[in-house]
Amino acid sequence: METPKNPTSIQHRIREGLSRVAMVMRVDDWNRAKRAGINPTQLSILELLEGRGDGLGVKEIAFHLGVSQPTATDSIAALERKGCVEKRQTETDRRGVSVAITTAGLTALRAGDGEESLANQATEALAAHEQEDLLVMLIKMIRQLQVNDAIPIQRMCTSCRFFAPFAHADAAQPHHCKFVDAAFGQRDLRIDCRDHETADAAIRAATWAVFENGRD
Ligand code: SF4
Repeated sequence: METPKNPTSIQHRIREGLSRVAMVMRVDDWNRAKRAGINPTQLSILELLEGRGDGLGVKEIAFHLGVSQPTATDSIAALERKGCVEKRQTETDRRGVSVAITTAGLTALRAGDGEESLANQATEALAAHEQEDLLVMLIKMIRQLQVNDAIPIQRMCTSCRFFAPFAHADAAQPHHCKFVDAAFGQRDLRIDCRDHETADAAIRAATWAVFENGRD
């Protein structure tokens, strides 16, 4: 029997907790997609392409979304029929094609916004320091998934060449973004920044070591 003295592993229970949150987020995604007149996979593609002016290849889209290439191809074709994305020849490779969001795609994305999501309501109920801790924990989990090649490198501060962690003595704004030349705090760390430029592997490792160790 499972009792407080004999629980399942903490990893198992964290996964149970995350799966409950993921379930609610799926409901949020369905509702947003419905308002936008598309399905959740198509919504995820538009979100991924927003802020990526050069677009992405089909293979990259599939990898980012964790779906098969045929699934990504079908969803892209449906979005193309709706005028939400367009295919462009890549400048570097004449045979290569990238998929980019159109103005209609951006409009559809905005149409999905409106009602506050259930997941947002849950995070808003947390205290400010709990929100910040959760953000940092998520960044650490995402980074581990990247290290394990489970997901591609995300446009997070911690992998960005402009990021200087704990560069300032100010505890409220310890980090520095060299892109905008400004200090910022833990709660402003980005998960998906459109100005992100991936640092090379050695810089990423050094940056991560400083970020992970904090001020110690
Ligand atoms: S450019 Fe964006 S990702 Fe890079 S450090 Fe600045 S805020 Fe973070």
